[in-house]
Amino acid sequence: MLDSPIEYLKGVGPLRGDMLHKELGIFTFRDLLEHFPHRHIDKTQVNLIRDITYQTDYIQVAGTLLNMETVGESRAKRLTAQLKDTSGIIELTWFQGINWVQKMLQPGQQYLVYGKTGFFNGKPQITHPEIEALSEVSAEGRTFLEPIYPTTEKLKARGLNARQMGKLTSALLAQLSEKDIPENLPEYLLEQLQLTSRYRAYCDVHFPKTTDDYYKAVNRLKFEEFFIAQLRLNLVRLERHRNSRGVIFEKVGNLFNSFYSNYLPFELTGAQKRVIREIRSDTAKGHQMNRLLQGDVGSGKTIVALLCMLLAADNGFQSCLMAPTEILAQQHYAGLSALLKDMPVQLRLLTGSTKTSERKKILQGLQEGEITMLAGTHAVIEDKVNFKNLGLAIVDEQHRFGVAQRAALWKKAEIPPHVLVMTATPIPRTLAMTAYGDLDYSVMDELPPGRQPITTVHRYETYRAKVMDFVRTEIEKGRQAYIIYPLIEESEKLSYEDLMQGYEQVKSFFPEPKYYISMVHGRMSAEQKDVNMKRFVEGDTHIMVSTTVIEVGVNVPNASVMIIESAEKFGLSQLHQLRGRVGRGSEKSFCILLTGSKVSNEGKERIKIMCATNDGFKIAEKDLELRGPGDIEGTRQSGVLNFKLASLVNDKTLLETAKHFAEKILEQDEDLVQHQNQPIKNYLLSQKGKTVWSRIS
Ligand code: ADP
Ligand code: MG
Repeated sequence: MLDSPIEYLKGVGPLRGDMLHKELGIFTFRDLLEHFPHRHIDKTQVNLIRDITYQTDYIQVAGTLLNMETVGESRAKRLTAQLKDTSGIIELTWFQGINWVQKMLQPGQQYLVYGKTGFFNGKPQITHPEIEALSEVSAEGRTFLEPIYPTTEKLKARGLNARQMGKLTSALLAQLSEKDIPENLPEYLLEQLQLTSRYRAYCDVHFPKTTDDYYKAVNRLKFEEFFIAQLRLNLVRLERHRNSRGVIFEKVGNLFNSFYSNYLPFELTGAQKRVIREIRSDTAKGHQMNRLLQGDVGSGKTIVALLCMLLAADNGFQSCLMAPTEILAQQHYAGLSALLKDMPVQLRLLTGSTKTSERKKILQGLQEGEITMLAGTHAVIEDKVNFKNLGLAIVDEQHRFGVAQRAALWKKAEIPPHVLVMTATPIPRTLAMTAYGDLDYSVMDELPPGRQPITTVHRYETYRAKVMDFVRTEIEKGRQAYIIYPLIEESEKLSYEDLMQGYEQVKSFFPEPKYYISMVHGRMSAEQKDVNMKRFVEGDTHIMVSTTVIEVGVNVPNASVMIIESAEKFGLSQLHQLRGRVGRGSEKSFCILLTGSKVSNEGKERIKIMCATNDGFKIAEKDLELRGPGDIEGTRQSGVLNFKLASLVNDKTLLETAKHFAEKILEQDEDLVQHQNQPIKNYLLSQKGKTVWSRIS
């Protein structure tokens, strides 16, 4: 029944049906059922006119219509009438449709009137009231709150305004019975959580008797959305644990151990050790690991990646580490090479700019298995690249990596390699639970010891000279500074001009020949970027002027100042990521957010948050609150965030509850064979093929 085309519903037909398709995307009965009202009006009460006060908003009264007359001439013409009940009189006024109203209404008759009250010369009145003859009002219609629906101008022109949409919904519900909307939650869950039944909830969300019924209905439907999503994500995860074949890293061998005892440059943090243990246990089980590693900027994800690559090598497998940009890939390569220089492993770098002859050698080395480890950009996953036995693929800073690119990895080996996805900055927990809920999950919530918190301040551009003075004193102390300009999305040319102007300006502040300034931007060739970057990394230049190409991952521990120009143009996670470029050494570091004098409220809010905290997990939560889930980078395409009613921002507790019960149920009854869980199973089966659930990894 719910799959019937909307045209077949009484009151719709082909013309309106066509409009509903185009305007609201309503094709079936189900679509209409799930076209929820955005508010209700309460016409269940009839009030006395006497009770109207200046505070009264909308009201419904009933009485006899008196003294209907038109007042004024032509454009100023209006129609007035009075409605009298046992307690008093209220004035009704119309400025439009006067002739029609006059024809419809009969003085002396009883009417039910609803509208927004106002006062004119101290007397209550309603302009353009909704009015119905009392004799025609069915008592039943008045026992429900009246739903008001989202609609469009075109639909209104076809007689489907915000309220008339309700007539269609009402007609639909009249045709449906409980068997059309079968319960999909187990009885015991409904009882334990005091949830409205599914059928009842769909009725009440449209036509509740009381606001309380409405909220209960909404709560039930939100829970259902979260619960079903969590079940599916967990089923995907369990299915992978059970049925995917994965290469087995059964031992920790010489490579790992000798690196750990001889070359590890520092003691690992507790969080790093824990994550390595989690990965180790996951890769020893014989199913494919698919793990998301969340860690704040600077929490030390790279060394975790390296140790895992050694683990793979110990077990005879190749591994690769992919970064989203050329610069980052090069830096990873340089960093890993330095750490591995006395280790018997073959590490190579493969990017878009690798020379043909070198590339040839690398491809051969990979195929023959001589090369153990590969760092690179997405060049790593091109079709031509064949590994002998790829056992582990690590995707660094995954926000920039597309779904398709990740998927391409699995084709690189007969048994899919283990996959570790590392975030650039944290993503909010609710988002992680849904967008990546099918992945196993590790968190690094601890920074290496000795880090000093970065001091962040907001300064107006008029302060630039002082800010530059500050940079100068830091440079005198032997430190280095970044100055970052926003990428102007609409125009690469504008970004470029902005940056060049900025560069000239910076030079004018540091005219002495002893100061060296590097610049990196998107228009440079990879080699040019590399040269300029290297000079900064090696401490040969003092200032790095750049667009956001620098954003992710670059590691220059000696840099202590990060200046962000037009900071209001950046999103929160981007600001946090940029700030993370400093504070990586033992020196006290600073982040200065420069803005013009005019900053939007949201921009101000972002800057306030940045100045208030260094905690990436907190910032991620705020980011979600400010922007909503649809905008969070990297999650847009995932498709699991399209909740109709539930919100990842406002319904966190409900999501936690849904997750808790979904996991608990699957823990006890992974195949949903228990009698009490049949409602869930039947529902999931009925949905098969309807939802595309081919998740990312
Ligand atoms: P991110 O998680 O942002 O990728 P990195 O892996 O680049 O962080 O590490 C940031 C810096 O911290 C690097 O200079 C790295 O050498 C250093 N580092 C990582 N782990 C530790 C540790 N346990 N103790 C001290 N320094 C560490
Ligand atoms: Mg990193």
